[in-house]
Amino acid sequence: MSAAYERLLAKLKRAHHLCTVTGLLGWDEQVNLPPDSADQRAEQMALLAELHHAAAGDPEIGALLAELEAQKCHPIGDTLSGADDVRVVVREARKDYDRVVKLPADFVSGKARLASAAYHAWAEAKAKNDFAAFAPFLEKHLALAKQEAGYLGRGDRPYDYAIDKHDPGMDAATITALFAELKTGLVPLLRAIAASPVRAKENIFKGFPIEAQREFLREVTERLGFNYRRGRIDVSLHPFCEGSGADIRMTTRFDADNPLDSLFSSIHETGHGLYEQGLPLAAQGTPLGQNAGMGVHESQSRLWENQVARSRAFWTFFEPRFREKFPEQLAAVSPQELYLAVNEVAPTLIRVDSDEVHYNLHIILRFEIERRLFSGELAVADLPAAWNALSKELLGLTPTSDKVGVLQDVHWSGGAFGYFPSYCLGNMMAAQLWFTVRARFPDLDAEFVRGDFSRLLGWLRTEIHEQGRRYEMRELVRRVTGEELTPKYLLRYLQERYAPLYLQ
Ligand code: ZN
Repeated sequence: MSAAYERLLAKLKRAHHLCTVTGLLGWDEQVNLPPDSADQRAEQMALLAELHHAAAGDPEIGALLAELEAQKCHPIGDTLSGADDVRVVVREARKDYDRVVKLPADFVSGKARLASAAYHAWAEAKAKNDFAAFAPFLEKHLALAKQEAGYLGRGDRPYDYAIDKHDPGMDAATITALFAELKTGLVPLLRAIAASPVRAKENIFKGFPIEAQREFLREVTERLGFNYRRGRIDVSLHPFCEGSGADIRMTTRFDADNPLDSLFSSIHETGHGLYEQGLPLAAQGTPLGQNAGMGVHESQSRLWENQVARSRAFWTFFEPRFREKFPEQLAAVSPQELYLAVNEVAPTLIRVDSDEVHYNLHIILRFEIERRLFSGELAVADLPAAWNALSKELLGLTPTSDKVGVLQDVHWSGGAFGYFPSYCLGNMMAAQLWFTVRARFPDLDAEFVRGDFSRLLGWLRTEIHEQGRRYEMRELVRRVTGEELTPKYLLRYLQERYAPLYLQ
Protein backbone atom coordinates (compact mmCIF):
# COMPACT_ATOMS: atom_id res chain seq x y z
CA MET A 1 0.00 0.00 0.00
CA SER A 2 1.46 3.36 -0.97
CA ALA A 3 2.12 6.02 1.65
CA ALA A 4 -0.25 8.42 -0.11
CA TYR A 5 -3.05 5.85 0.00
CA GLU A 6 -2.48 5.13 3.69
CA ARG A 7 -2.50 8.84 4.44
CA LEU A 8 -5.74 9.23 2.49
CA LEU A 9 -7.40 6.42 4.46
CA ALA A 10 -6.38 8.05 7.74
CA LYS A 11 -7.85 11.38 6.63
CA LEU A 12 -11.11 9.77 5.46
CA LYS A 13 -11.44 7.87 8.73
CA ARG A 14 -10.96 11.04 10.73
CA ALA A 15 -13.81 12.78 8.87
CA HIS A 16 -15.93 9.64 9.25
CA HIS A 17 -15.45 9.50 13.02
CA LEU A 18 -16.60 13.10 13.34
CA CYS A 19 -19.63 12.18 11.29
CA THR A 20 -20.46 9.25 13.59
CA VAL A 21 -20.22 11.52 16.65
CA THR A 22 -22.73 13.87 15.01
CA GLY A 23 -24.93 10.86 14.37
CA LEU A 24 -24.77 9.81 18.00
CA LEU A 25 -25.68 13.29 19.20
CA GLY A 26 -28.59 13.27 16.74
CA TRP A 27 -29.72 9.89 18.05
CA ASP A 28 -29.45 11.14 21.62
CA GLU A 29 -31.49 14.21 20.73
CA GLN A 30 -34.37 12.01 19.56
CA VAL A 31 -34.11 9.43 22.34
CA ASN A 32 -32.83 11.04 25.53
CA LEU A 33 -32.56 14.81 25.36
CA PRO A 34 -34.21 16.67 28.26
CA PRO A 35 -36.79 19.21 27.02
CA ASP A 36 -34.82 22.36 27.87
CA SER A 37 -31.46 21.16 26.51
CA ALA A 38 -32.18 21.70 22.83
CA ASP A 39 -30.27 25.00 22.47
CA GLN A 40 -27.08 23.55 23.89
CA ARG A 41 -27.41 20.54 21.62
CA ALA A 42 -27.90 22.80 18.59
CA GLU A 43 -24.60 24.53 19.39
CA GLN A 44 -22.80 21.22 19.82
CA MET A 45 -24.18 20.01 16.50
CA ALA A 46 -23.18 23.22 14.72
CA LEU A 47 -19.62 22.95 16.05
CA LEU A 48 -19.36 19.33 14.93
CA ALA A 49 -20.73 20.21 11.50
CA GLU A 50 -17.98 22.82 11.20
CA LEU A 51 -15.27 20.36 12.30
CA HIS A 52 -16.58 17.70 9.95
CA HIS A 53 -16.70 20.10 7.04
CA ALA A 54 -13.08 21.09 7.68
CA ALA A 55 -11.97 17.46 8.01
CA ALA A 56 -13.84 16.25 4.91
CA GLY A 57 -12.69 19.25 2.90
CA ASP A 58 -9.07 19.12 4.13
CA PRO A 59 -6.94 20.33 1.16
CA GLU A 60 -4.52 17.49 1.84
CA ILE A 61 -7.28 15.03 0.81
CA GLY A 62 -7.48 16.90 -2.50
CA ALA A 63 -3.71 16.70 -2.98
CA LEU A 64 -3.60 12.98 -2.10
CA LEU A 65 -6.47 12.23 -4.46
CA ALA A 66 -4.73 14.10 -7.29
CA GLU A 67 -1.53 12.15 -6.61
CA LEU A 68 -3.34 8.79 -6.58
CA GLU A 69 -5.39 9.63 -9.66
CA ALA A 70 -2.18 10.47 -11.54
CA GLN A 71 -0.91 6.95 -10.76
CA LYS A 72 -4.00 5.28 -12.13
CA CYS A 73 -2.20 3.56 -15.02
CA HIS A 74 0.02 1.69 -12.57
CA PRO A 75 -1.78 -0.58 -10.12
CA ILE A 76 -0.81 0.60 -6.67
CA GLY A 77 -2.31 -2.16 -4.58
CA ASP A 78 -0.40 -5.25 -3.55
CA THR A 79 -2.71 -7.59 -5.45
CA LEU A 80 -5.21 -7.31 -8.25
CA SER A 81 -8.12 -6.99 -5.82
CA GLY A 82 -6.03 -4.59 -3.75
CA ALA A 83 -5.66 -2.43 -6.85
CA ASP A 84 -9.40 -2.58 -7.36
CA ASP A 85 -10.01 -1.49 -3.77
CA VAL A 86 -7.76 1.51 -4.26
CA ARG A 87 -9.58 2.42 -7.46
CA VAL A 88 -12.97 2.29 -5.69
CA VAL A 89 -11.79 4.30 -2.70
CA VAL A 90 -10.20 6.99 -4.87
CA ARG A 91 -13.23 7.21 -7.17
CA GLU A 92 -15.76 7.49 -4.34
CA ALA A 93 -13.62 9.71 -2.12
CA ARG A 94 -13.27 12.09 -5.08
CA LYS A 95 -17.07 12.36 -5.35
CA ASP A 96 -17.41 13.07 -1.63
CA TYR A 97 -14.56 15.54 -1.63
CA ASP A 98 -15.91 17.51 -4.59
CA ARG A 99 -19.31 17.69 -2.93
CA VAL A 100 -17.69 19.26 0.12
CA VAL A 101 -15.25 21.70 -1.49
CA LYS A 102 -17.25 22.83 -4.49
CA LEU A 103 -19.98 24.31 -2.30
CA PRO A 104 -19.07 27.73 -0.87
CA ALA A 105 -19.16 27.88 2.93
CA ASP A 106 -21.83 30.61 2.96
CA PHE A 107 -23.99 28.51 0.64
CA VAL A 108 -23.77 25.54 3.03
CA SER A 109 -24.52 27.56 6.16
CA GLY A 110 -27.34 29.40 4.34
CA LYS A 111 -28.90 26.10 3.35
CA ALA A 112 -28.64 24.77 6.92
CA ARG A 113 -30.30 27.92 8.26
CA LEU A 114 -33.08 27.65 5.69
CA ALA A 115 -33.64 23.99 6.53
CA SER A 116 -33.99 24.79 10.22
CA ALA A 117 -36.41 27.69 9.59
CA ALA A 118 -38.33 25.69 6.97
CA TYR A 119 -38.75 22.76 9.35
CA HIS A 120 -40.49 24.96 11.91
CA ALA A 121 -42.53 26.70 9.20
CA TRP A 122 -43.60 23.31 7.85
CA ALA A 123 -44.61 22.00 11.28
CA GLU A 124 -46.69 25.12 11.90
CA ALA A 125 -48.18 25.17 8.40
CA LYS A 126 -49.13 21.51 8.81
CA ALA A 127 -50.77 22.14 12.19
CA LYS A 128 -52.72 25.09 10.77
CA ASN A 129 -53.35 23.50 7.37
CA ASP A 130 -51.81 26.57 5.75
CA PHE A 131 -49.76 25.65 2.67
CA ALA A 132 -49.30 29.29 1.64
CA ALA A 133 -47.23 29.91 4.79
CA PHE A 134 -44.82 27.14 3.82
CA ALA A 135 -44.67 27.89 0.08
CA PRO A 136 -41.94 30.61 0.24
CA PHE A 137 -39.61 28.20 2.07
CA LEU A 138 -40.18 25.55 -0.55
CA GLU A 139 -39.46 28.10 -3.30
CA LYS A 140 -36.15 28.94 -1.63
CA HIS A 141 -35.21 25.30 -1.18
CA LEU A 142 -35.95 24.66 -4.84
CA ALA A 143 -33.77 27.59 -5.89
CA LEU A 144 -30.92 26.38 -3.64
CA ALA A 145 -31.21 22.84 -4.97
CA LYS A 146 -30.74 24.15 -8.51
CA GLN A 147 -27.88 26.37 -7.40
CA GLU A 148 -26.18 23.42 -5.69
CA ALA A 149 -26.44 21.32 -8.86
CA GLY A 150 -24.80 24.24 -10.68
CA TYR A 151 -21.84 24.29 -8.29
CA LEU A 152 -21.27 20.60 -8.98
CA GLY A 153 -21.44 21.08 -12.75
CA ARG A 154 -24.94 19.56 -13.03
CA GLY A 155 -26.85 22.82 -13.50
CA ASP A 156 -28.44 21.55 -16.71
CA ARG A 157 -30.02 18.61 -14.86
CA PRO A 158 -30.66 19.66 -11.28
CA TYR A 159 -33.22 16.94 -10.54
CA ASP A 160 -30.87 14.22 -11.77
CA TYR A 161 -28.26 15.67 -9.46
CA ALA A 162 -30.72 15.54 -6.52
CA ILE A 163 -31.55 11.90 -7.30
CA ASP A 164 -27.88 10.98 -7.69
CA LYS A 165 -27.16 12.34 -4.21
CA HIS A 166 -29.38 9.63 -2.73
CA ASP A 167 -28.93 6.91 -5.36
CA PRO A 168 -25.64 7.27 -7.19
CA GLY A 169 -25.93 6.67 -10.91
CA MET A 170 -29.72 6.90 -10.99
CA ASP A 171 -31.60 9.55 -12.99
CA ALA A 172 -35.12 10.82 -13.61
CA ALA A 173 -35.50 9.30 -17.09
CA THR A 174 -34.69 5.79 -15.80
CA ILE A 175 -37.05 6.19 -12.85
CA THR A 176 -39.83 7.53 -15.10
CA ALA A 177 -39.67 4.36 -17.21
CA LEU A 178 -39.48 2.02 -14.18
CA PHE A 179 -42.39 3.72 -12.42
CA ALA A 180 -44.57 3.76 -15.56
CA GLU A 181 -44.20 -0.02 -15.89
CA LEU A 182 -44.82 -0.51 -12.18
CA LYS A 183 -47.96 1.64 -12.24
CA THR A 184 -49.37 -0.25 -15.23
CA GLY A 185 -49.09 -3.49 -13.26
CA LEU A 186 -50.23 -2.15 -9.90
CA VAL A 187 -53.49 -0.53 -10.96
CA PRO A 188 -55.32 -3.73 -12.03
CA LEU A 189 -54.08 -5.62 -8.95
CA LEU A 190 -55.33 -2.89 -6.64
CA ARG A 191 -58.68 -2.64 -8.46
CA ALA A 192 -59.17 -6.38 -8.01
CA ILE A 193 -58.25 -6.22 -4.31
CA ALA A 194 -60.61 -3.25 -3.80
CA ALA A 195 -63.45 -5.26 -5.34
CA SER A 196 -62.73 -8.28 -3.13
CA PRO A 197 -65.15 -9.12 -0.30
CA VAL A 198 -62.17 -10.15 1.86
CA ARG A 199 -61.27 -7.53 4.47
CA ALA A 200 -58.91 -7.54 7.41
CA LYS A 201 -60.90 -7.17 10.67
CA GLU A 202 -60.61 -3.78 12.35
CA ASN A 203 -59.52 -3.24 15.97
CA ILE A 204 -58.68 -6.82 16.85
CA PHE A 205 -55.61 -5.85 18.88
CA LYS A 206 -56.18 -4.38 22.33
CA GLY A 207 -54.10 -4.04 25.48
CA PHE A 208 -50.71 -5.50 24.52
CA PRO A 209 -48.39 -4.66 27.45
CA ILE A 210 -45.37 -2.67 26.25
CA GLU A 211 -42.85 -4.75 28.20
CA ALA A 212 -44.03 -7.97 26.57
CA GLN A 213 -43.98 -6.29 23.14
CA ARG A 214 -40.42 -5.25 23.82
CA GLU A 215 -39.43 -8.82 24.71
CA PHE A 216 -41.12 -10.24 21.63
CA LEU A 217 -39.49 -7.84 19.19
CA ARG A 218 -36.12 -8.46 20.80
CA GLU A 219 -36.59 -12.18 20.19
CA VAL A 220 -37.63 -11.57 16.57
CA THR A 221 -34.85 -9.12 15.69
CA GLU A 222 -32.22 -11.30 17.37
CA ARG A 223 -33.37 -14.32 15.39
CA LEU A 224 -33.17 -12.32 12.17
CA GLY A 225 -29.52 -11.78 13.04
CA PHE A 226 -29.19 -8.33 14.62
CA ASN A 227 -26.11 -8.29 16.84
CA TYR A 228 -27.03 -6.57 20.11
CA ARG A 229 -23.40 -6.52 21.18
CA ARG A 230 -22.84 -3.97 18.43
CA GLY A 231 -26.14 -2.12 18.57
CA ARG A 232 -29.29 -1.40 20.54
CA ILE A 233 -32.92 -0.45 20.19
CA ASP A 234 -34.62 2.40 22.03
CA VAL A 235 -37.79 4.44 21.76
CA SER A 236 -38.34 7.63 19.74
CA LEU A 237 -41.28 9.46 18.19
CA HIS A 238 -40.45 8.20 14.69
CA PRO A 239 -38.49 4.96 14.23
CA PHE A 240 -35.07 5.28 12.61
CA CYS A 241 -31.68 3.59 12.40
CA GLU A 242 -28.47 5.51 12.96
CA GLY A 243 -24.81 4.63 13.16
CA SER A 244 -22.36 2.44 11.35
CA GLY A 245 -19.83 -0.28 11.94
CA ALA A 246 -19.60 -1.38 15.53
CA ASP A 247 -22.39 0.79 16.92
CA ILE A 248 -25.88 0.72 15.40
CA ARG A 249 -28.72 2.58 17.14
CA MET A 250 -32.24 1.63 16.11
CA THR A 251 -35.43 3.07 17.51
CA THR A 252 -39.05 2.02 17.59
CA ARG A 253 -42.27 3.21 19.25
CA PHE A 254 -44.96 1.32 21.16
CA ASP A 255 -48.74 1.40 21.11
CA ALA A 256 -50.61 -1.04 23.37
CA ASP A 257 -53.40 -1.28 20.77
CA ASN A 258 -51.18 -1.66 17.72
CA PRO A 259 -48.46 -4.25 18.35
CA LEU A 260 -47.90 -4.85 14.64
CA ASP A 261 -46.80 -1.24 14.08
CA SER A 262 -43.98 -1.58 16.55
CA LEU A 263 -43.07 -5.05 15.36
CA PHE A 264 -42.91 -4.19 11.66
CA SER A 265 -41.19 -0.86 12.08
CA SER A 266 -38.59 -2.61 14.25
CA ILE A 267 -38.08 -5.29 11.62
CA HIS A 268 -37.71 -2.56 8.99
CA GLU A 269 -35.05 -0.79 11.05
CA THR A 270 -33.41 -4.15 11.75
CA GLY A 271 -33.00 -4.56 7.98
CA HIS A 272 -31.16 -1.23 7.90
CA GLY A 273 -29.14 -2.26 10.96
CA LEU A 274 -28.17 -5.65 9.50
CA TYR A 275 -26.86 -3.89 6.40
CA GLU A 276 -24.74 -1.49 8.44
CA GLN A 277 -23.50 -4.31 10.69
CA GLY A 278 -22.57 -6.31 7.59
CA LEU A 279 -20.40 -3.61 5.99
CA PRO A 280 -16.72 -4.56 6.24
CA LEU A 281 -15.59 -3.34 9.65
CA ALA A 282 -11.93 -3.22 8.61
CA ALA A 283 -12.82 -0.69 5.90
CA GLN A 284 -14.93 1.48 8.21
CA GLY A 285 -14.66 5.15 7.41
CA THR A 286 -13.67 4.49 3.78
CA PRO A 287 -16.07 4.03 0.85
CA LEU A 288 -15.50 0.25 1.01
CA GLY A 289 -17.07 0.26 4.46
CA GLN A 290 -20.02 2.48 3.53
CA ASN A 291 -23.48 1.71 2.18
CA ALA A 292 -24.28 1.98 -1.52
CA GLY A 293 -27.03 4.59 -1.21
CA MET A 294 -30.60 5.03 -0.04
CA GLY A 295 -32.25 2.70 -2.56
CA VAL A 296 -29.97 -0.20 -1.66
CA HIS A 297 -30.49 0.57 2.03
CA GLU A 298 -34.25 0.47 1.59
CA SER A 299 -33.99 -2.80 -0.34
CA GLN A 300 -32.49 -4.32 2.80
CA SER A 301 -35.04 -2.92 5.26
CA ARG A 302 -37.95 -3.81 3.02
CA LEU A 303 -36.79 -7.31 2.19
CA TRP A 304 -36.87 -8.22 5.89
CA GLU A 305 -40.00 -6.24 6.65
CA ASN A 306 -42.09 -7.36 3.69
CA GLN A 307 -40.83 -10.39 1.80
CA VAL A 308 -39.68 -12.15 4.99
CA ALA A 309 -41.83 -10.91 7.87
CA ARG A 310 -45.19 -10.95 6.03
CA SER A 311 -44.66 -14.50 4.78
CA ARG A 312 -46.50 -17.64 5.92
CA ALA A 313 -43.19 -19.29 6.74
CA PHE A 314 -42.19 -16.48 9.11
CA TRP A 315 -45.52 -16.60 10.91
CA THR A 316 -45.53 -20.39 11.07
CA PHE A 317 -42.54 -20.05 13.34
CA PHE A 318 -43.43 -16.86 15.22
CA GLU A 319 -47.21 -17.16 15.67
CA PRO A 320 -47.00 -19.71 18.54
CA ARG A 321 -44.41 -17.47 20.24
CA PHE A 322 -46.56 -14.39 19.71
CA ARG A 323 -49.56 -16.20 21.22
CA GLU A 324 -47.51 -17.45 24.13
CA LYS A 325 -46.55 -13.84 24.98
CA PHE A 326 -50.12 -12.53 24.59
CA PRO A 327 -52.47 -15.46 25.28
CA GLU A 328 -55.51 -13.43 26.38
CA GLN A 329 -55.13 -10.61 23.86
CA LEU A 330 -54.99 -13.09 20.96
CA ALA A 331 -57.52 -15.62 22.25
CA ALA A 332 -60.29 -14.34 19.99
CA VAL A 333 -58.04 -13.78 16.95
CA SER A 334 -57.91 -16.72 14.55
CA PRO A 335 -54.70 -17.60 12.68
CA GLN A 336 -56.26 -16.42 9.42
CA GLU A 337 -57.37 -13.12 11.00
CA LEU A 338 -53.86 -12.56 12.28
CA TYR A 339 -52.29 -13.30 8.91
CA LEU A 340 -54.76 -10.98 7.16
CA ALA A 341 -53.97 -8.22 9.65
CA VAL A 342 -50.29 -8.64 8.83
CA ASN A 343 -51.12 -8.38 5.13
CA GLU A 344 -53.89 -5.81 5.18
CA VAL A 345 -54.35 -3.87 1.93
CA ALA A 346 -56.47 -0.70 2.04
CA PRO A 347 -55.85 2.73 0.51
CA THR A 348 -54.96 5.59 2.80
CA LEU A 349 -53.98 9.22 2.21
CA ILE A 350 -50.93 8.94 4.43
CA ARG A 351 -47.75 7.43 2.99
CA VAL A 352 -46.32 6.20 6.29
CA ASP A 353 -49.55 4.38 7.14
CA SER A 354 -49.75 2.72 3.74
CA ASP A 355 -49.64 -1.00 3.01
CA GLU A 356 -46.80 -2.23 0.82
CA VAL A 357 -48.93 -2.37 -2.35
CA HIS A 358 -50.31 1.18 -2.25
CA TYR A 359 -47.02 2.49 -0.92
CA ASN A 360 -45.49 2.51 -4.37
CA LEU A 361 -48.25 4.78 -5.69
CA HIS A 362 -47.52 7.28 -2.91
CA ILE A 363 -43.95 7.42 -4.17
CA ILE A 364 -44.92 7.67 -7.84
CA LEU A 365 -47.06 10.68 -6.87
CA ARG A 366 -44.17 12.43 -5.11
CA PHE A 367 -41.70 11.67 -7.88
CA GLU A 368 -44.12 13.08 -10.48
CA ILE A 369 -44.53 16.28 -8.42
CA GLU A 370 -40.78 16.73 -7.92
CA ARG A 371 -40.07 16.10 -11.59
CA ARG A 372 -42.58 18.79 -12.61
CA LEU A 373 -41.33 21.23 -9.98
CA PHE A 374 -37.76 20.97 -11.24
CA SER A 375 -38.71 21.18 -14.91
CA GLY A 376 -40.80 24.29 -14.21
CA GLU A 377 -44.01 22.62 -15.46
CA LEU A 378 -45.44 23.09 -12.00
CA ALA A 379 -45.28 26.23 -9.84
CA VAL A 380 -45.00 25.86 -6.06
CA ALA A 381 -48.29 27.78 -5.66
CA ASP A 382 -50.10 25.13 -7.73
CA LEU A 383 -48.68 22.24 -5.72
CA PRO A 384 -51.71 21.43 -3.55
CA ALA A 385 -54.04 21.22 -6.56
CA ALA A 386 -51.58 19.02 -8.48
CA TRP A 387 -51.10 16.80 -5.42
CA ASN A 388 -54.82 16.34 -4.90
CA ALA A 389 -55.44 15.54 -8.57
CA LEU A 390 -52.68 12.91 -8.57
CA SER A 391 -53.91 11.47 -5.29
CA LYS A 392 -57.36 11.02 -6.79
CA GLU A 393 -55.92 9.50 -9.94
CA LEU A 394 -53.47 7.11 -8.27
CA LEU A 395 -55.02 6.26 -4.89
CA GLY A 396 -58.65 7.02 -5.63
CA LEU A 397 -58.67 9.39 -2.65
CA THR A 398 -58.78 13.20 -2.54
CA PRO A 399 -57.16 14.75 0.53
CA THR A 400 -59.65 16.55 2.73
CA SER A 401 -56.93 19.03 3.71
CA ASP A 402 -53.29 19.82 2.84
CA LYS A 403 -52.36 18.43 6.23
CA VAL A 404 -53.15 14.94 4.94
CA GLY A 405 -52.04 15.90 1.42
CA VAL A 406 -49.09 17.94 0.29
CA LEU A 407 -47.98 18.92 3.82
CA GLN A 408 -47.84 15.39 5.28
CA ASP A 409 -44.12 14.63 4.79
CA VAL A 410 -41.15 16.31 6.45
CA HIS A 411 -38.66 15.72 3.56
CA TRP A 412 -39.12 18.89 1.52
CA SER A 413 -38.75 21.10 4.59
CA GLY A 414 -35.13 19.93 4.71
CA GLY A 415 -34.69 20.46 0.98
CA ALA A 416 -34.42 16.68 0.51
CA PHE A 417 -35.57 16.43 -3.09
CA GLY A 418 -34.82 13.23 -4.98
CA TYR A 419 -35.10 11.18 -1.79
CA PHE A 420 -38.62 9.74 -2.21
CA PRO A 421 -37.87 7.58 -5.29
CA SER A 422 -35.35 5.58 -3.19
CA TYR A 423 -38.19 3.98 -1.23
CA CYS A 424 -39.80 2.54 -4.32
CA LEU A 425 -36.50 1.62 -6.01
CA GLY A 426 -35.72 -0.22 -2.78
CA ASN A 427 -39.02 -2.12 -3.03
CA MET A 428 -38.16 -3.18 -6.58
CA MET A 429 -34.67 -4.25 -5.66
CA ALA A 430 -35.89 -6.16 -2.58
CA ALA A 431 -38.32 -8.20 -4.67
CA GLN A 432 -35.69 -8.85 -7.33
CA LEU A 433 -33.24 -10.08 -4.68
CA TRP A 434 -36.00 -12.20 -3.16
CA PHE A 435 -36.61 -14.14 -6.39
CA THR A 436 -32.88 -14.53 -6.95
CA VAL A 437 -32.13 -15.91 -3.49
CA ARG A 438 -35.12 -18.26 -3.53
CA ALA A 439 -34.05 -19.72 -6.84
CA ARG A 440 -30.57 -20.18 -5.40
CA PHE A 441 -31.78 -21.74 -2.12
CA PRO A 442 -35.11 -23.50 -2.66
CA ASP A 443 -35.24 -24.56 1.02
CA LEU A 444 -35.35 -21.02 2.36
CA ASP A 445 -39.03 -21.24 3.37
CA ALA A 446 -38.45 -24.49 5.25
CA GLU A 447 -35.61 -22.81 7.13
CA PHE A 448 -37.82 -19.81 8.03
CA VAL A 449 -40.44 -22.24 9.37
CA ARG A 450 -37.76 -23.49 11.77
CA GLY A 451 -36.86 -19.91 12.74
CA ASP A 452 -33.55 -20.02 10.87
CA PHE A 453 -32.81 -16.92 8.79
CA SER A 454 -29.05 -17.32 8.67
CA ARG A 455 -28.76 -18.51 5.08
CA LEU A 456 -30.61 -15.44 3.75
CA LEU A 457 -28.52 -13.13 5.91
CA GLY A 458 -25.31 -14.88 4.85
CA TRP A 459 -26.20 -14.43 1.20
CA LEU A 460 -27.02 -10.74 1.69
CA ARG A 461 -23.77 -10.30 3.58
CA THR A 462 -21.70 -11.67 0.70
CA GLU A 463 -23.64 -10.26 -2.21
CA ILE A 464 -24.63 -6.82 -0.89
CA HIS A 465 -23.24 -5.83 2.49
CA GLU A 466 -19.59 -6.74 2.00
CA GLN A 467 -19.49 -4.80 -1.28
CA GLY A 468 -19.72 -1.42 0.47
CA ARG A 469 -19.85 1.31 -2.16
CA ARG A 470 -18.02 -0.77 -4.76
CA TYR A 471 -21.01 -0.73 -7.15
CA GLU A 472 -23.83 1.72 -7.82
CA MET A 473 -27.33 0.36 -7.31
CA ARG A 474 -28.00 -0.62 -10.92
CA GLU A 475 -24.69 -2.37 -11.36
CA LEU A 476 -25.09 -4.15 -8.05
CA VAL A 477 -28.52 -5.43 -9.10
CA ARG A 478 -27.14 -6.55 -12.45
CA ARG A 479 -24.26 -8.44 -10.84
CA VAL A 480 -26.32 -10.11 -8.12
CA THR A 481 -29.47 -10.96 -10.08
CA GLY A 482 -28.14 -11.18 -13.64
CA GLU A 483 -30.76 -8.67 -14.79
CA GLU A 484 -31.32 -4.94 -14.98
CA LEU A 485 -33.35 -3.40 -12.14
CA THR A 486 -36.97 -4.03 -13.11
CA PRO A 487 -40.42 -3.71 -11.47
CA LYS A 488 -41.33 -7.15 -12.87
CA TYR A 489 -40.37 -9.00 -9.69
CA LEU A 490 -42.08 -6.56 -7.36
CA LEU A 491 -45.29 -7.03 -9.34
CA ARG A 492 -44.86 -10.80 -9.31
CA TYR A 493 -44.18 -10.84 -5.59
CA LEU A 494 -47.25 -8.68 -4.80
CA GLN A 495 -49.41 -10.89 -7.01
CA GLU A 496 -48.15 -14.07 -5.34
CA ARG A 497 -48.59 -12.68 -1.85
CA TYR A 498 -51.94 -10.93 -2.16
CA ALA A 499 -53.89 -12.86 -4.82
CA PRO A 500 -54.28 -15.97 -2.63
CA LEU A 501 -55.51 -13.79 0.24
CA TYR A 502 -57.87 -11.45 -1.56
CA LEU A 503 -58.65 -12.87 -5.00
CA GLN A 504 -59.73 -16.48 -4.47
ZN1 ZN B 1 -36.15 2.70 5.77
